[in-house]
Amino acid sequence: MAQTEALFRDDAYLRDGAARVVGINDRGGILLDRTMFYATSGGQPGDTGRLTREDGSTIEIAATVTGETKDEIIHVPAAEQVLPELGETLQLAIDWERRFKLMRMHTACHLLSVICPFPITGASVNEADSRVDFDLPDANVTKEDVTIRLMELVNGNHPVFTRWISEEELESNPGLVKSKNVRPPRGAGRIRLVCIGEEAVVDSQPCGGTHVASTAEVGEIHIGKIEKKGRENRRFRIRFGSLPAS
Ligand SMILES: [Zn+2]
Repeated sequence: MAQTEALFRDDAYLRDGAARVVGINDRGGILLDRTMFYATSGGQPGDTGRLTREDGSTIEIAATVTGETKDEIIHVPAAEQVLPELGETLQLAIDWERRFKLMRMHTACHLLSVICPFPITGASVNEADSRVDFDLPDANVTKEDVTIRLMELVNGNHPVFTRWISEEELESNPGLVKSKNVRPPRGAGRIRLVCIGEEAVVDSQPCGGTHVASTAEVGEIHIGKIEKKGRENRRFRIRFGSLPAS
């Protein structure tokens, strides 16, 4: 199937632009030659938004997912939308308000993994509440302490940027991979690293998601809950706003 140029990989702040229809799959999913719609992957949900046709009519996009490979990006229309013609040029626009929240939350998950340097067993980014699960038998941490340290990193206004490395570089730095169960995709010959801080002094780890450009843009966040999930797992919940007084 068609390969789509994934514009969000180089510019997470791209909200709109034009693209050409290169395929419609058997379930009505729309494939484009290029897109800024992020497809669900790595715990971050795909974008929603709108495609505008040449005649001014619009197609609401309810979800964005990957197909057989991560390079195949499928725009899933909401119910009862008219499908575009093959070869037609569309104007794309993502739901930016939602995406920017996801970028802030996703970046916050990276910051949490800096403060809690334990193997990650799961993660899920959402608009209002994100979670990271750690392999952590004894939680000698409180949500108050973690919140204070998270906000130190946010207020430090550290740059967040990406860098591509070879598989060999990753092999020689196994400490870069924090996820216990998910290995970064191999075979493409190169790995996308998300770095935080000048010269990546705060953190760097393989990730294909979208992030804000500086930690200050994450804004005020707090740990809403630390839950026990099984004998060896702790689930940390990140929420926007300041820690409610207990
Ligand atoms: Zn990430």
